[in-house]
Amino acid sequence: MRITRIIAQPVLVPRRQAYGRDAASALGAAPASEHGIVTIETDAGLTGHGEICSVFSRRGRLLCRDVELNLEPVLIGQDPRRIAALAAAMDRALEGSEPAKAGIEMALFDILGKAAGLPVYQLLGGLVRERISLSYSIPFGTPAEMAAFARERIAEGFRTVKVKVGRDRDTDVETVRAVREAVGGDIRVRVDANMGWRTPNEAIGIIRAMEPSRPEMIEQPLPGHDLDGLARVRAAVGVPILADESVWTPRDAIAVVKRGAADFVNVYVSEAGGLLKAAGIFAICEAAGIPCMIGSMPETGIGTAAQIHLGLAMNNLQIDSDTCGVLYHEIDLIETPLRIEGGFAYPPQGPGLGVRPDHEAIARHALEDPPRRGLRAGPAD
Ligand SMILES: [Mg+2]
Repeated sequence: MRITRIIAQPVLVPRRQAYGRDAASALGAAPASEHGIVTIETDAGLTGHGEICSVFSRRGRLLCRDVELNLEPVLIGQDPRRIAALAAAMDRALEGSEPAKAGIEMALFDILGKAAGLPVYQLLGGLVRERISLSYSIPFGTPAEMAAFARERIAEGFRTVKVKVGRDRDTDVETVRAVREAVGGDIRVRVDANMGWRTPNEAIGIIRAMEPSRPEMIEQPLPGHDLDGLARVRAAVGVPILADESVWTPRDAIAVVKRGAADFVNVYVSEAGGLLKAAGIFAICEAAGIPCMIGSMPETGIGTAAQIHLGLAMNNLQIDSDTCGVLYHEIDLIETPLRIEGGFAYPPQGPGLGVRPDHEAIARHALEDPPRRGLRAGPAD
């Protein structure tokens, strides 16, 4: 079997609002996700799909250009089942651009699964759990708005909520207090600063003030590069620290382990550069005694399916995860919705990733730049 064509279609997907406004965190407001949908065609008639996701700079169009200019040339004519070899070839062809490589690698796994008649989680080691327990993120609002939002998620079945902070000290502390009071003592309330605090001392002071609200963990209190700062915060507070923006690749995970910078690590398929590298981060952390979760960019349907397959097969997935990116969008770009209900994500059905792209919806949300071959491109929203 050989790869005959690769299409990377940029899309702009509207996000669900919160409190009647665009959802926001310390990373900024997010009216829409700029992603890319990857299609890989083969001479065997099998087609695979993947999703390119990048929340930070919303640069789906640039990542799709990387596919066209730098990655497609080393993949055309190759056997799509040689996933590890093709991942290495992509690394040789292009430094960085992990979300683009991840979108391609998802599509390769989709093809391999379809060829083998197996779901991707079987290719990654098989089920270690029947479903993935989820956390739901609460975007910026007033403390009262965020508390009410958290209560609605608990009513839906979620047992973990993630409170977005990283504004000013008083607002952050009051928000976590209000959410804890609203959800009661049995719910896990985790806190994500998204790098919003500036110094270790500032972070330590705010976290200590939050400790009466019993946060489950503090996610990324400092900028991603500041591993020594994270280690200082971790040593000074009584709440576990989770590294998120600090860990993209397996190499980053080793740095966090060596520096003692985190109690937990948040793993992304997109940031790692694919499922194999994400599984590598799980293995590094497992060997170091660091439990992991899976984070969200947030993905639409195809990317979320890939995350769910990974989480179903990882022994070291030990804390509630964000593998529900579809819930943060108005549409999922797949034909049949993933089963995500009552605070859990369930295995997609069928071989490969187990999802079929909704080509009509993709065309409706396609971005025109760059002009693509083979898919009908509609106007951007
Ligand atoms: Mg985070």
